Amino acid sequence: MMEPNRRTEFVSTASIKECDPTESGCDGMTGLSVEVDHGTASRFSLETGDKIRIETPDGSQGGDFSFPGFDQALTRNKLGWKRFKRPWLVYSALPGDSLFDAHGEATFELTSLQGEGVADIMYPGCWDEVYEDRRPGCQDLISEALEIERSELAGMLSFFVGYSADDIAYRGLAGVDLQAGDHLEFRALRPVTCAVSACPDLDISGWRRGSLIVTVTEAAR
Ligand SMILES: [Zn+2]
Repeated sequence: MMEPNRRTEFVSTASIKECDPTESGCDGMTGLSVEVDHGTASRFSLETGDKIRIETPDGSQGGDFSFPGFDQALTRNKLGWKRFKRPWLVYSALPGDSLFDAHGEATFELTSLQGEGVADIMYPGCWDEVYEDRRPGCQDLISEALEIERSELAGMLSFFVGYSADDIAYRGLAGVDLQAGDHLEFRALRPVTCAVSACPDLDISGWRRGSLIVTVTEAAR
């Protein structure tokens, strides 16, 4: 008998709706909004110039963002060089920074980041083996949404996380005080498919079960 793909059922089938500017997460933008529930992921296809905005409407939930070929190690290096003119590595992306693919091509620009949490490019995202109950982690959810093998997922950007760092370690997943409306936004620099997960982890300080509002706004064409 064929084993059903256990992960499929956790991928969000949330319907896409027109953004209502009176609702949280829209800010008067016209766009398509999707609610990504805790423990699920959704895929989005963007054209050059389109924007994707990820918001926690109630300050509860963080997650991961990725796209096929995203190279977070190369991104750390390129952003470090840009900031310091040295081959140093940065921990997170700031507004104005790009995310690079494995060929060194700038694929997204982080255009906005509001809140205490950072856009971390250190962590690989979670996966099912880190959970005792083997629930699908962000790597499982995002690779499923992108229809690629988990092993092909080269990089992850974890958002709404806290950290500290010293000579010993990058101490990520530190406590973070998320506020309702905290968000980050990326602009696509080429036609690209990406995915957003609402992390299934319930042990990260400052997070609790919630959902994310993801809004895609088309560039004027
Ligand atoms: Zn996760």
